[in-house]
Amino acid sequence: MKGYKDTIYKTVYQYNQIPIPAADMERLQEIARDCREVRNYVYDKYGGIRSLPKIYPGYTVQNEMTKSGLRERLGLPSVYFYLSIFDALGDIKSQWARTKNRIGKNIRENPNLTPKDRHYLRFVIKQSQCFESILAGGEPKLPGDWKKSYAAVCEDVDTHRLNQYLRRQVRRHLDRSHTDTADGFPASPKSYRYGDHGIYLSTKESRKRLFIPLTDNNRYARQIYIRLYPEEGKVTINIPVEVRQRHPAGYAGEIGLAVGLKCMFVTDQGRTYGEKYLEYQSALTDYVRERLPRHRRNAKNNPGMKKYNAGKARLEKALHDYVNGEINRMLETEKPETVYYPKLPAKSKAGVNRRVNATVNMWQKGFVKSRLLQKCRERSIGLSEVFGKGIGIQCSSCGADGVKKDDTFRCPSCGLELPERQNAARNVLNRGRGLKEEQQKSSL
Ligand SMILES: [Zn+2]
Repeated sequence: MKGYKDTIYKTVYQYNQIPIPAADMERLQEIARDCREVRNYVYDKYGGIRSLPKIYPGYTVQNEMTKSGLRERLGLPSVYFYLSIFDALGDIKSQWARTKNRIGKNIRENPNLTPKDRHYLRFVIKQSQCFESILAGGEPKLPGDWKKSYAAVCEDVDTHRLNQYLRRQVRRHLDRSHTDTADGFPASPKSYRYGDHGIYLSTKESRKRLFIPLTDNNRYARQIYIRLYPEEGKVTINIPVEVRQRHPAGYAGEIGLAVGLKCMFVTDQGRTYGEKYLEYQSALTDYVRERLPRHRRNAKNNPGMKKYNAGKARLEKALHDYVNGEINRMLETEKPETVYYPKLPAKSKAGVNRRVNATVNMWQKGFVKSRLLQKCRERSIGLSEVFGKGIGIQCSSCGADGVKKDDTFRCPSCGLELPERQNAARNVLNRGRGLKEEQQKSSL
């Protein structure tokens, strides 16, 4: 099997070799200001609820912007004009994704909604035609199979009330983008040419290119960003470059993990790692609780303290070796390309020696995570944290709230039955995938 190749982006920079003359800087700033005006124009005109049907895939916006006369009024080269439109559209799309996420969270946490209400709302948020018609105040007209699924989710719910709720939520959470900064502008290969140890940039004067000598001779052919530092007479050229990473042979796919003390990891497939974690952890915790010398004065010369420290170090090492071994075993068995990990709120369980327990626990949890991070890095595996609230009660198949009993999760809505921790791990995977899709959409 060949090694798996993954592509990540990082930014490289190029710098001007000599200070930019004030007149040239002014010409660059003028482009930056015009690009800002184009962006704000797009935000104002297409950032609202009624423009939602226009922004996917965006040709309508492009056509309307061409007809708007804005470009001619500004006298801006078309390459800068259209790049600014796409940038602004990207921002509007991420704004919508954020809004839908926030509403999804409110739906999960709203106690006045029944499981069927939630199911209905989640359906109409996901189905873009439904979502658009409901926001516009109309009835969705759906093709074939969608029509049936829509009819099914409408059963036994007050769609009128829920649609009103949804519209209110959107109005409340959809923020309009606006930018006041004009610190640079995007440029594509149509608007620049490398040569003579520098770069030639299109300007607003037709056929006149502005030359900037650069400190290096590298050449790129992609969309770049010209960042201006007028006070210092400086520019940087920011270039996103792909960095290919080679995974060890066979590493592919994504896994979601549920994490805990009882068992370090349960995967979305239900496989378990670190089942003895609690034994090692308790050995250490009990030792600390029982043996910690009462007299901690003169700690350095106190023989009791020395013995205690040695004993504690031995148990810590055993725990760490166990954690390291189990993380290695997990990564070598699962061979994932990406690992999703839940971000959990720090909480301490009340107990007898609460203070000691909390201190050791928190530290050990941090240790597991930092070791996992390190070991993923060494293997070029992506580790992504996802929102962890509610992963235990949410159904990983339909999203409704379920019931946990005897370590088993049951969903009253769709009938799913799974080990509780596996259901949680599947939610982590779902959330991780959702996050990735959102990031990919907003980077288009
Ligand atoms: Zn379900």
